[in-house]
Amino acid sequence: MRVKRVEIVPLEVVVRNFAAGSLCRQTGIALGTKLDPCLVEFYYKNDDLGDPLLTRDRIFAMGISSAPQLDQLTEQAMRINTILREFFTGCGITLVDFKLEFGTDHTGTLLLADEISPDTCRLWNNAETDERKRVMDKDRFRQDLGSVAENYQTVLDRIMMQLP
Ligand code: UDP
Repeated sequence: MRVKRVEIVPLEVVVRNFAAGSLCRQTGIALGTKLDPCLVEFYYKNDDLGDPLLTRDRIFAMGISSAPQLDQLTEQAMRINTILREFFTGCGITLVDFKLEFGTDHTGTLLLADEISPDTCRLWNNAETDERKRVMDKDRFRQDLGSVAENYQTVLDRIMMQLP
């Protein structure tokens, strides 16, 4: 594996196309509500503080990032979302939400520095309408829905078929 050293920006950048998870818990928005435009949210990468949701002003006050860098993070996250959403649609899968992390290399260039997998995305099977059956991501494990490995394998099989 060839890698580049980066200095990680201590933010989890979450993009949401449909409401699920903490968004539903914190706002009461119904599970599965379409979010158009998508939401781009920033969470502080800090286990001791429980990875809290941040505002732009809090990020500036904490000195974590600058306005131009936040704009760049938002723009890159939205571009990645457009590409991934379309790719997963071709796999018969809805990209509900996902998390990204970024870092800067020695030239100061902002780079995506993360995995993209069913551990960091919510993926719903378009062939299933049932709320429990459609889940293809780590929520299967977290909600004890069973068939975790089988669903991860289905995601992989469909991705492999979709790749050029
Ligand atoms: N996520 C992640 N790592 C984290 C927090 C969130 O990969 O430490 C992903 C999660 O899998 C989901 C999205 O970010 O795809 C939004 O997560 P959410 O805020 O809804 O929290 P959750 O309900 O998953 O705890």
